[in-house]
Amino acid sequence: MIAKIAVIGAGMAGLTVAKKLTKKGLSVDVFDKGRAVGGRMSSRRTEWGYLDHGVQYFTVKNPLFQNFIAQNEEFVKAWAGKFGRWQGTNVITIEPENPRYVPTIAMNNLCKKMATGLNVKLQTRIISLKKSQKWTLIDENEQLYSDYDFIIITAPPLQTIDLLGNHSFISESIRDLKMFACYSLMLIPENKLDLPFDGIEFQHPILGWICVNDSKPLRGEKGSIIIQSNFTWAEENLATTRDDIGEMLKNATSEVLKIKFYHHLYESVHLWRYAIPQQINDQGYYLDKSNNIGVCGDWCLNGEVESAFLSGYWLANKIYE
Ligand SMILES: Cc1cc2nc3c(=O)[nH]c(=O)nc-3n(C[C@H](O)[C@H](O)[C@H](O)COP(=O)(O)OP(=O)(O)OC[C@H]3O[C@@H](n4cnc5c(N)ncnc54)[C@H](O)[C@@H]3O)c2cc1C
Repeated sequence: MIAKIAVIGAGMAGLTVAKKLTKKGLSVDVFDKGRAVGGRMSSRRTEWGYLDHGVQYFTVKNPLFQNFIAQNEEFVKAWAGKFGRWQGTNVITIEPENPRYVPTIAMNNLCKKMATGLNVKLQTRIISLKKSQKWTLIDENEQLYSDYDFIIITAPPLQTIDLLGNHSFISESIRDLKMFACYSLMLIPENKLDLPFDGIEFQHPILGWICVNDSKPLRGEKGSIIIQSNFTWAEENLATTRDDIGEMLKNATSEVLKIKFYHHLYESVHLWRYAIPQQINDQGYYLDKSNNIGVCGDWCLNGEVESAFLSGYWLANKIYE
């Protein structure tokens, strides 16, 4: 019988599966190496407001996710921005196929709400797993967490394989799944820039996305800008210094949008080493019933917040069925 479960990762997938299994009466502990819940749904806190340096917005298509968002509507707002797409020489206006949503104030606010009432242990990086009768988790300080009937991993594929090792066939099933890196440059210019769009998508050798961060609900008023890189370019520039990355992203932006950057109140580059899956996966989740292991996360589907939710939701249903 499954009574006690450990979930590694407190992003959208981990919190969804943990919440659902807790509601079924199981005892669930969630472990995350980060200082806060949310994973890639995170924002940098500054004295001028929160800067969304990971996920930029999400869409809501599946009825299960629609229902979840409706239940949490006080934490999520539609981003009624003006959106564009770079066409090689200019930016054209686009009407997104689906409305774009963001949690209010900061990207991880929705995850914070989900984590309420859950037993979440932060700043705890799990580095290995041991099985005898039950599962034991070991963290980087050699602290042991024991007596788990079932473990669920929501880390990116490479890190999941590191944890699973030879414990499960799942390692082999996910061996070819890779994630793209992405650089995110956060800027608060001293003088507000006059950008013609709130968010612009790029097919460009360096740029992937630019947005006016504070056009999102409750993000401050200082004219903060987020510039995200092209994924392939990020992979090719993993060894480049953050200063050089920042300069290259600013230069590319100046060139395409014909704007000049001067002084900034805030400037920082963040590297997401595992940002977005390189391939679409239709597996949904992975379950090894004979070893009591489950794996879920956005990369088990198509790499979006909605996929992370669905992956966690479906895995929880399957464990409990
Ligand atoms: C730059 C960028 C732009 C994006 N843009 C969009 C977008 O526009 N729309 C969209 O829908 N999605 C977007 N995404 C993707 C979206 O962020 C993800 O789909 C979603 O947040 C994934 O949730 P998850 O729970 O599967 O994974 P994560 O959020 O990555 O959660 C996994 C958690 O596991 C923890 N963890 C990993 N290993 C360990 C360990 N060994 N021990 C303890 N904890 C561990 C991590 O700290 C993390 O918190 C973007 C992502 C990035 C980075």
